[in-house]
Amino acid sequence: MPEQSYSYIIVGAGVAGASAVEGIRHQDRDGSILLIGAETDRPYDRPPLSKQLWTGGKAVPEIVLHDDAFYREHAVDLRLGIEIAQIDPVAHTIRDSGNVTYRYERLLLATGGTPRRLDIPGGDLDGISYYRTLHDYRQLRASAGEGKSALVIGGGFIGSEMAASLRANKLEVTMIFPSSWLVSRVFPESLGRYLTEQYRGRGVEILAGDVPLSIRREGDGYVTRNRTGREIRTDLVVVGIGITPEVSLARAAGLSTGNGVIVDEFLQTSAPDIYAAGDVALFPEAGFGPRRLEHWDNAVSQGKHAGRNMAGAREPFTYVPFFFSDLFEFGYEAVGDVDSRLTTFADWQEENKTGVIYYLDGDRLRGAMMCNVWGQVDAARGLIQKGRPVSTESLRGAIR
Ligand SMILES: Cc1cc2nc3c(=O)[nH]c(=O)nc-3n(C[C@H](O)[C@H](O)[C@H](O)COP(=O)(O)OP(=O)(O)OC[C@H]3O[C@@H](n4cnc5c(N)ncnc54)[C@H](O)[C@@H]3O)c2cc1C
Repeated sequence: MPEQSYSYIIVGAGVAGASAVEGIRHQDRDGSILLIGAETDRPYDRPPLSKQLWTGGKAVPEIVLHDDAFYREHAVDLRLGIEIAQIDPVAHTIRDSGNVTYRYERLLLATGGTPRRLDIPGGDLDGISYYRTLHDYRQLRASAGEGKSALVIGGGFIGSEMAASLRANKLEVTMIFPSSWLVSRVFPESLGRYLTEQYRGRGVEILAGDVPLSIRREGDGYVTRNRTGREIRTDLVVVGIGITPEVSLARAAGLSTGNGVIVDEFLQTSAPDIYAAGDVALFPEAGFGPRRLEHWDNAVSQGKHAGRNMAGAREPFTYVPFFFSDLFEFGYEAVGDVDSRLTTFADWQEENKTGVIYYLDGDRLRGAMMCNVWGQVDAARGLIQKGRPVSTESLRGAIR
């Protein structure tokens, strides 16, 4: 017999889950809401975990999304430190790991993702930081004192940001990653190589085109062996090699899943009354086909959108992706599809520092990355959404 019953249950108290509350309340002021999450911290923003918390731009209380008053005013039952273990889509119930059952009318899965683990000997050693949560930040911060050494494994967003932040905190930092330059899935070669050299200039040792083969403990630290047999001794090992969407609940319940929980344009899963949003959702992006994004702005937008649809709106989710990052002084905002395999055209005001990189598929503009150019996200969205054929000449100076 279900013990507790709610109009709406949101599983996963990350930014998508918290945003869903706003979406629901936009449509329905009265329905009861349960927001339930495995982490013990109130919903918070993850981007500062690899940036402002290290550079002094923000303190932990500032990254918490809402205070207790918000949940009170929105009549949300917020339960933290509770993991949901099972969904029964027929009975419209979920069960937590303590065997408590909750009944929902509408359910949102906002379960995000879990860091991918290194599949090498020693990859599961205690103390290796698979960096994702505020808890991970607190742990790493406590051991990342000035003068310590760190190996950062992975050269994508998280690895690059963490290496910059640790270096800015005066640690000796080595990076190892398989591609030839940093953030190679997004940065075209010339910019990627330039930024990689900037890292070297900042004193970060870069082992590009390389991978770790094993890790072992020695004394208080770690010894990582690379492909050439070199042994890298560091106090800390931080890993950022991507995430796996947290689909296990959905899959066990028989919902359609792939590289994410599959949803339609209304963010509805294959099961009646169950929706998904954020890093976990594999959605049909207009013009691109099925897509799963791991971006803060997408999680906010999808969370709100799913909330509204759960509460009775029936609006398709049409969205041009947006994300941002900071690497030392190089900050950027990117809109649309910024895949370095597309043709790129760089409109620099100052080469590799200030300007816009356009990403084209033939004569179609797919994406734009504004490098140290701010406040132009809507302009870039507008250009992409026009969908008209463009020439590189017509793009020169289009965004400043
Ligand atoms: C260090 C870091 C820096 C980032 N920087 C940027 C950036 O600069 N720009 C950008 O656009 N994006 C950035 N991102 C990505 C962005 O933070 C994510 O896209 C966003 O957090 C996704 O939100 P979400 O709510 O979908 O998932 P998550 O944030 O992963 O939240 C999901 C929550 O669900 C909980 N959960 C999972 N399963 C269960 C269960 N069975 N029961 C209960 N709870 C469960 C998890 O514990 C978690 O708290 C960054 C991410 C990290 C980790």
